[in-house]
Amino acid sequence: MLVVLKSGIPAIEIDHITQEVRSSLNVTVEKSVGQHKIVLGLIGDTATIDPFHIQKISPWIEQVLHIEKAFKRASREFRYGEASEVIVPTPNGDVYFGENYPIILVAGPCSVENEAMIVETARRVKVAGAKFLRGGAFKPRTSPYAFQGHGESALELLATARKATGLGIITEVMDTADLPAIAKVADVIQVGARNMQNFSLLKKVGAQHKPVLLKRGLSATIEEWLMSAEYILAAGNPNVILCERGIRTCDSKYTRNVLDLSAIPVLRQLTHLPIMIDPSHATGKSEYVAPMAKAAIAAGADSLMIEVHPNPAKALSDGPQSLTPDSFDDLVREISAFGKVAGRWEQPTQIPVIA
Ligand code: PEP
Ligand code: MN
Repeated sequence: MLVVLKSGIPAIEIDHITQEVRSSLNVTVEKSVGQHKIVLGLIGDTATIDPFHIQKISPWIEQVLHIEKAFKRASREFRYGEASEVIVPTPNGDVYFGENYPIILVAGPCSVENEAMIVETARRVKVAGAKFLRGGAFKPRTSPYAFQGHGESALELLATARKATGLGIITEVMDTADLPAIAKVADVIQVGARNMQNFSLLKKVGAQHKPVLLKRGLSATIEEWLMSAEYILAAGNPNVILCERGIRTCDSKYTRNVLDLSAIPVLRQLTHLPIMIDPSHATGKSEYVAPMAKAAIAAGADSLMIEVHPNPAKALSDGPQSLTPDSFDDLVREISAFGKVAGRWEQPTQIPVIA
């Protein structure tokens, strides 16, 4: 249920309404301050609450509405139709993810392999304009015999790359036991596609403070995905970014997955949360990454995640879909034109233009 407050409401009146609601109804009250409105979200068994009962509490209440969706906090209504932003502090400054901000580039290898490759990649993607370095320390692999990631030692290498470049770090958590160590290094914690419905993991990442990047499950519906986001929000962490990374459909012969770009406008209607697109895992082939990155920008993505490896042919995971640093430079040059048209390109990148 949503209590929309009138513009200019004094803080003391917000406290009064909050206390009245809490003492007369068995609900929790969450305040959110949007660009245009302050709203109070009432969470609990609100189905039988009469909106007039709440309306009577104060003349500063503009409207009381029921939220029909099963995902309450994640719903667009919960912010009274406004987008939210996720603000991530990094050594290079605060980075804003959201509909009202420039597109944020996240780039790096699938797995952290050694210090030289992660630091070199970090330097190159930073120069090209990325704000975050991605790289897996704990890897979810289909085969138990495939490279599983270097684990904790890779976290140290990510910390080294962070120090060398000031880039924020995004890395995946697979096991709740690893969360404290990952949260020490990561600026954003990734929950991968295969764990989208690992509800104990979602509760744990929701109970800590680092922002969470929630990838869409391999065959998850949009509502299942938003219900997973709801787990994180309900556990107390408001900073969730959604990442579409391709889903399973009938044809997987030519691409690894099918990038569901229609998820962008659908999510825009359904949720206030920022939206990232990962064309690397979606297509599985480096040559398809640039066209889908452009399409993602045209469709309104807030952020792109691109796999970049200094030597994709030798990569320990996801080489075929990884760009080289040079081809990442090319990609950024190409997509910047689309970003500018969309009015979402922040700054000229520092990549030297090759004549
Ligand atoms: C990854 O980001 O390297 C990864 C394993 O992603 P996903 O969970 O989307 O497969
Ligand atoms: Mn990967």
